[in-house]
Amino acid sequence: MLTKRELKLLEKVTQIDAIPGLEQELAKFVKGELEKYGFTIVTDNLGSVFGVKKSKVTQAPRIMVAGHLDEVGFSVREITDKGFIRVDARGGINANTMLASRVRLTLDDGTKLMGSVGATAPHYGGEGNPTIDKLDFDFGFISKEDAVNAGVRVGQMIVADGPFEVLNGGKRLLAKAFDNRYGVFMALEMARYFENVDLPYDLYVGATVQEEVGLRGATTIANVINPDLAIILDCSPARDNISSSEQGQLGEGILIRYLDRSMIAFPELLTFQEKSAEALKVPYQYFHSPGGTDAGAIHLHAVGVLTLTHCVCARSIHTSASVVDTTDIKNAKKVLIRMLRTLNRDKINKFKEARR
Ligand SMILES: [Zn+2]
Repeated sequence: MLTKRELKLLEKVTQIDAIPGLEQELAKFVKGELEKYGFTIVTDNLGSVFGVKKSKVTQAPRIMVAGHLDEVGFSVREITDKGFIRVDARGGINANTMLASRVRLTLDDGTKLMGSVGATAPHYGGEGNPTIDKLDFDFGFISKEDAVNAGVRVGQMIVADGPFEVLNGGKRLLAKAFDNRYGVFMALEMARYFENVDLPYDLYVGATVQEEVGLRGATTIANVINPDLAIILDCSPARDNISSSEQGQLGEGILIRYLDRSMIAFPELLTFQEKSAEALKVPYQYFHSPGGTDAGAIHLHAVGVLTLTHCVCARSIHTSASVVDTTDIKNAKKVLIRMLRTLNRDKINKFKEARR
């Protein structure tokens, strides 16, 4: 079970809207929290937000712990004469998951407007196969002019509304955007935990922008942080509700993500992760993915960076109704703390030597 404080933080971060390129509202919240824990803010021109806690050790190595701020969503493409809004997708979304969804549009001044995505009544024969560009987003406008007068313009953010719910007495949680507010939550929890702990390395914690459209923020922030080792926090798609694969079972442990489209994991780091879990008697499961994470960009930075993913799985990611297991999250946090407490210059050098 998670504590009341942890649940409150998860609720807070899942309910802020942030699509690729428009992450400022969440970035501002994360910045405030990092400052609260005494971290010095590090950012770049794309808007990723990190905090650093410098080591007292001279020329200390740098460790980066990163989630990503953005969730998949939409932006306004055009307004029809009848006042419907047509959209561009930002990130991978299956149009079927959007029919009859409640959605939220953010105007330039931050005002939030609620709306609905049109679905055909059964009387008229059902849906067929909708595509994102054909969906009618209905915010109640009666004409194009009406929408324009309300302040709607091209490029504004739309997300599916996905309230935070505690399920089954706290065993599971339901909300939008666990991909990747799990990572944002974990990064902030590390800042909180290590606020008063002396470390033999400079600790950078925070979250990147524009992961969902191709690891863009990770690419640029890596130039600022220049990590010796990076741990990437992300929420991966569970498979236990949709296929027979044993990889990605909700509630059956943290993910040892050994292979995906963007990175072949470093075996030495996977062993380190497994040993850390075993020491805490935390279950883990191997996981491969046809997708990628920010690790894909970070491990290719400069001459290559030791990079490890530290993920849990969630059902129905990239929809407004994703479900996570709280024991998985609790365990992921414990293992991450243990790894960060064990890492030092010697260990990092040994990991580097293994590749030479
Ligand atoms: Zn993600």
